[in-house]
Amino acid sequence: MGQPKHLERKPRTPHNKCPVCDSGMRIRTSNLITPLFKEEKRQCINPDCGLSVLYEVTAARVLVPSAMDPSNAGLTIQPTPQATA
Ligand SMILES: [Zn+2]
Repeated sequence: MGQPKHLERKPRTPHNKCPVCDSGMRIRTSNLITPLFKEEKRQCINPDCGLSVLYEVTAARVLVPSAMDPSNAGLTIQPTPQATA
C-alpha cells in the first residue's frame, strides 16, 4: 500500500521446508565457517520422512552498506531499483 517496495513484508514461511514432503525442517547444528559462510544441518520434522540435509548458507550481497567500512567485506552491493534504467 503506502509502503515503499523495499519495505513491504512478504508473508513469512514459519520454517524451512523439506524438499521431499513439504513438512518443516529443524536446524540441528549451525557451523560458522567464515563470517560470510555457514553450514547448517537441517532435519525434516515428519517422522515418516526423516530427511537430513546439509545446507550451505552464503552471504550474497549487501542490501544496506556499512557505515564503518566502505569495502563491505568484499560483497557486491545490490543496485537500487531505479538504477536499472
Ligand atoms: Zn520430509
